[in-house]
Amino acid sequence: MKGLMQDYPLTLQHLLWRMDRLFGRKEIVSRLEHGVHRSNYGELVERAGRLAGLLSRLGVRPGDVVGTLAWNDYRHLELYYAVPCMGAVLHTLNLRLFPDQLEFTIRDAGDSVIVVDRSLIPVLNQLAGRLPALRALVVMNDGQPLPEHGLGEMLDYESGLAGERPDFPWPRLAEDDAAAMCYTSGTTGNPKGVVYSHRSQFLHSMATLGTDSVGLSERDAVLPIVPMFHANCWGIPYGAGMAGSKVILPGRYLGDAEVIVNLADEEGATVMAGVPTIWINTVQYLEKTGRRLPRVRTILCGGAAIPRGLMEAMDRLGLRMVHAWGMTETSPIGSFANVRSWTPAGAELDQRLTQGAPAPCVEIRIADLASGKELPWDGQAFGEIQCRGPWIAAAYNHRADPDRFTVDGWLRTGDVATISPDGYITIVDRTKDVIKSGGEWISSVELEGAIMAHPKVLEAAVIGLQHPRWQERPVAYVVAKPEFKGQITGEEIREFLRDKVASWWLPDEVRFIDEMPKTSTMKFDKKALRATAEPLSQATPAPGS
Ligand code: AMP
Repeated sequence: MKGLMQDYPLTLQHLLWRMDRLFGRKEIVSRLEHGVHRSNYGELVERAGRLAGLLSRLGVRPGDVVGTLAWNDYRHLELYYAVPCMGAVLHTLNLRLFPDQLEFTIRDAGDSVIVVDRSLIPVLNQLAGRLPALRALVVMNDGQPLPEHGLGEMLDYESGLAGERPDFPWPRLAEDDAAAMCYTSGTTGNPKGVVYSHRSQFLHSMATLGTDSVGLSERDAVLPIVPMFHANCWGIPYGAGMAGSKVILPGRYLGDAEVIVNLADEEGATVMAGVPTIWINTVQYLEKTGRRLPRVRTILCGGAAIPRGLMEAMDRLGLRMVHAWGMTETSPIGSFANVRSWTPAGAELDQRLTQGAPAPCVEIRIADLASGKELPWDGQAFGEIQCRGPWIAAAYNHRADPDRFTVDGWLRTGDVATISPDGYITIVDRTKDVIKSGGEWISSVELEGAIMAHPKVLEAAVIGLQHPRWQERPVAYVVAKPEFKGQITGEEIREFLRDKVASWWLPDEVRFIDEMPKTSTMKFDKKALRATAEPLSQATPAPGS
């Protein structure tokens, strides 16, 4: 017997309907170069209609891909809704990719129109003459002169919208139609395209409303400090639209703690989201200035492991971090580290520091790195995390990648973890980053966390370097807090670690650097560290040996 329920497609058009009919007055605040811009959901829906009209006038049809090269602001949010709701596919371009990779993603996705922020024209201009398939370029600008470029004709976004009607006839869509795509930041080889469907984004938005996830509600004001090209801005633009939350967008100022704290304070942010490096900066700023953000209820943090010292510092500042794990391929929600009702008070911090338990709709297992066999959830055995669910990628755009997708339908994440009997995941490393020393594994993530607990340390990343006897040995790259620069030694750090990790985990060398290289999504860039790393000094075999 079949259920007798309506065949209602799960598409982002439902979110547009909610924003229009229920939350028209809810504010969208954007920090632009020339100050704060205010609009609301009502205006967004109207402008999204005009935008869809403009794009279809430019020849965009259902299934076509529209690229965006833009900061976190209200116009980008309009594109987030207009493009998928007209049946086209939103491709948020990673503005920090090298030109060749940017070109690759534009071609691989098949972008037919690109909408670019005026200030990012120079980024696109590096590809002048290399984008023959592009049908049109639209520039988001506020009447300022455009920088010199060789990209050909550019249509002005605002004049284009002014010439259109707001009541665009949104077509009927199927829930498995593509809605958006993001490319992984790809540590090796070309980036890989993840193609989200309306259904996956709809269900993922529902998930952001759950109390044991982000718990977005109409009463929230959410400030994502996540580039809008990174995993659909962690699904926050759609989650906020579904819930009716106020949205605060930091423009291009993601790395500026003062701008962020001002925005959060003045606009009454209740939820903020970002990778650990954002919060390392924020803690420094709050401690230095004595400022506080009492209205913020949740700091959602993922993308990299939260160092214990960071969570403790945030706790002291009254900012409660919720640790989440996920990836571009998982939309990105995978797991959340909420404390269980039966967890004793003394174990709460440890539990909050894990990568958490699988979110509803996400199934997770770990598989032995060598044999691929499923491992027990005993908190000891570690293997690669594999996951499946309605918002987990089943393939990449134009590539099958059988080594990333198992024959029985699971995504191989490349993350190595243990899982406790209660289902809490602890990431030990990326498969590419684990250090193998004398036949045993060393977790670079754990070592980094331990080093960053040192009071004089701001940031630390650990990589394995070749060693003639032990295969690999750990080397730590450390950035001291500004006030301790030049006043900390490698021996001091090794001494600090002595009662925290096994003696054979102690880094052979501690190398102090002024700045940690970061990826386009603001994570520590170990690939860059590896590329320029000097070999281990004691690893050089003695002459004649
Ligand atoms: P991306 O697709 O760029 O978001 O990168 C996803 C990767 O970031 C994951 O596969 C993990 O290696 C890492 N990651 C995400 N969240 C966490 C976390 N909470 N702890 C440790 N690593 C994480």
